[in-house]
Amino acid sequence: MSLYIILMGVQGAGKGVQAAFIRDHYGIPHVSTGDLFRAMKTRTDPLAQQIQEIMRQGLLISDDITNKVVRDRLEQADAQGGVILDGYPRNAAQAQWLEAFLAGRGQAVTRVLLLELDLYDAFRRAFGRVVAANGDSFNIYSHSEGIDWRFVDDPQGLFPPRLEATVIATGEKLVRRPDDANAHAIIKRIDTYRQTTQPLIDYYRAKGLVSVIDASQSIEAVSQAIQTAIDAARV
Ligand code: AMP
Repeated sequence: MSLYIILMGVQGAGKGVQAAFIRDHYGIPHVSTGDLFRAMKTRTDPLAQQIQEIMRQGLLISDDITNKVVRDRLEQADAQGGVILDGYPRNAAQAQWLEAFLAGRGQAVTRVLLLELDLYDAFRRAFGRVVAANGDSFNIYSHSEGIDWRFVDDPQGLFPPRLEATVIATGEKLVRRPDDANAHAIIKRIDTYRQTTQPLIDYYRAKGLVSVIDASQSIEAVSQAIQTAIDAARV
């Protein structure tokens, strides 16, 4: 049996890091539908242009198009031993399509890994994150050793306070990712996640496929828990 792992978790739960762990440990590719759609940016065919317009509006791509893109990806040679799905399925209709598609190949979803993180922690992970030019990441709330940081009020009071952070040893200024700097946008993302994923979690729970992983632990502990869950599911 191939390994079909569905990775779910709120932004900040560490999906990217753990997807890389699963990819390296089990030798299956990480398939993120968001990445697949973003990669179409350079294409000029009508389907790619339609997708770009929908993403620009911040809407979801239709199930038909999404399922087709997933099918094409799952049929590629490197996906024959299975995949890690990230950002897909997003609703019950996609989950049902995936189930039917895999069944047609004599396969099934191996495990749904739910990286569970308190939503306030998820907020702090995004809002407090500052990154260095070399990709090193710090957090003013949980990982601030070696950095200096403060909020600076906007002189006219028109904009929210700005976060200034520097590496003490080198003086390098750290920056926030643009989508982490807006508290309202972060809350909206977390809320959307909660609303859209709960029905899916219920769907997979009813099938006994969900492993809940405590994402507040260290990266290594989360990876270990993931490995335990996958190994138990594949025997
Ligand atoms: P993400 O990086 O997962 O947040 O996805 C970025 C964008 O890609 C979303 O806002 C949607 O427009 C689209 N997208 C990604 N995955 C799906 C999906 N499973 N169903 C529909 N649209 C999706």
